[in-house]
Amino acid sequence: MKGAVLYGPGDVRFEERADPTIIEPTDAILRLSASCVCGSDLWPYRGIGTSPDPQPMGHEYVGIVEEVGREVRNIKPGQFVVGSFWASDNTCAICHAGYQSRCVDARPMGALGAQAPFLRVPLADGTLVATPELPSDDLIPSLLAASDVLGTGWFAADAAAVAPGKTVAVVGDGAVGLLGVFSAKQMGAERIIAMSRHESRQKLALEFGATDIVTERGDEGVARIKDMTDGLGAHSVIEAVGTQESMMQAIRATRPGGHVGFVGVTHGVELPGLELFFSTVHLHGGPAPVRRYLPALIDLIWNRKINPGKVFDLTLPLEQVAEGYRAMDERRAIKTLLRT
Ligand SMILES: [Zn+2]
Repeated sequence: MKGAVLYGPGDVRFEERADPTIIEPTDAILRLSASCVCGSDLWPYRGIGTSPDPQPMGHEYVGIVEEVGREVRNIKPGQFVVGSFWASDNTCAICHAGYQSRCVDARPMGALGAQAPFLRVPLADGTLVATPELPSDDLIPSLLAASDVLGTGWFAADAAAVAPGKTVAVVGDGAVGLLGVFSAKQMGAERIIAMSRHESRQKLALEFGATDIVTERGDEGVARIKDMTDGLGAHSVIEAVGTQESMMQAIRATRPGGHVGFVGVTHGVELPGLELFFSTVHLHGGPAPVRRYLPALIDLIWNRKINPGKVFDLTLPLEQVAEGYRAMDERRAIKTLLRT
């Protein structure tokens, strides 16, 4: 098969890779219907944390089960399934507590390279959730969104304790931030302030449920949020970038007693202890346990109650994966869907 491989900064190639096979008896092999490029793929693409060796890319996936190992009980060939970016057994104490992304046996799917036509999924029974039947084509973008960006945005909103009547601010207007807006709306937030300075993203944020747009960032952004909330700050703040500036912006925009849900993969973030001490905010985040939310999110999508697939504003055939990265890197696209 041919799939995406990152060789170095700005250098994604569509090239021959070994066909995946069952290695462990708990594995499944999927024929992927679609994959996509994640904002977090852009970090190594831009040379931050890039491996010196060629790396298969991609960790978001939906598809049809081709084959399962001899110990797989619930997942069956022919089913359409959605998984997340961490494989998990879904049986350990951490999984039972709802933190499947930190399963005692968690396996990163990115290492297996989902920007490809076939994918090996470890711990198939724990990781994969099947849809009731094969989905119609128009549901595939939304089901794919559940695999990461929707699941991550949902966790961020949940971690930020979004609830009816609350004011929510969202730092970051990438796909995850936008789906944080979307999730906050679904959870009944009264006011949702999207922090964005890009017109196409502001538009989608408003469509997803934002009530206000703030274009300022850093301390000016914080001052605007305070102005809009009687000087108090938001009840709930979603952080979906992962830089020092965005993290401090999120903490400072939260009122005492409020909650920050942080899901941007942090790069070089250091929190000042004394400021943290006096902030009196709840901080919760990390790699989203998307698996916790998959059954409920799939159900909402299946019954056409939500349409998060709108976040994909560029669809390309898999062989044009390099252009998919370029378009996102240059902010010409919010998120690229790859048809396999
Ligand atoms: Zn587990």
